[in-house]
Amino acid sequence: MQKLSKNGFIQDPDTLDTLPRRELAAGYAEVAKYGLIDDPAFFAWCEGNGAKLIAGDPSVRAPAIATSVASKARIVAEDERETTGRRALLNLGHTFGHALEAETGFSDRLLHGEGVACGMALAFRFSAAQGLCSVEDATRVTRHLEEVGLPGTLAAAGVDADGATLVAHMLHDKKMAGGRLPFLLARGIGETFVAKDVDLAAVATFLDGER
Ligand SMILES: [Zn+2]
Repeated sequence: MQKLSKNGFIQDPDTLDTLPRRELAAGYAEVAKYGLIDDPAFFAWCEGNGAKLIAGDPSVRAPAIATSVASKARIVAEDERETTGRRALLNLGHTFGHALEAETGFSDRLLHGEGVACGMALAFRFSAAQGLCSVEDATRVTRHLEEVGLPGTLAAAGVDADGATLVAHMLHDKKMAGGRLPFLLARGIGETFVAKDVDLAAVATFLDGER
């Protein structure tokens, strides 16, 4: 029985009732992601309703699904031929998240959505550390993900690896093109952008500081 597709997309609302809370929370990470990408009003909605959504409150399920589906369709349509880079925004949290998943062996230790959640929190904190985004916004992202039971820190994700190890995992990410690793960073909540010239040594140093 397929309930969530590979990217966590909700396919059949009724099957959500049969999912354990942990998997619902993991799927929810990719819902909140749409607010963080380019829809700050939706992120604010998530802050007010995310916990209810994960708890199975049917009154918030339909709007969450509708917004997620519409956001994904809109972003894909804006970059149908993958030429503008806009479509890559859908990968917010996935480069950091991939490293965490690799470090935990792509296992039940860290579900994909949990890796993405922690990855989004890391992307915002790294953005703040780089002076791109306010510390307040980064804190808000981390706080909300933790409030709904998702990991917002390396420790919460069960990852103890150093920065160099995690960056090495990122370099195995299949999304790497031409020897460069695009990162999805943010100027604020709902202001995600593709950063193409991120210094991997700075990422490693940042991750060491997160331990
Ligand atoms: Zn994903």
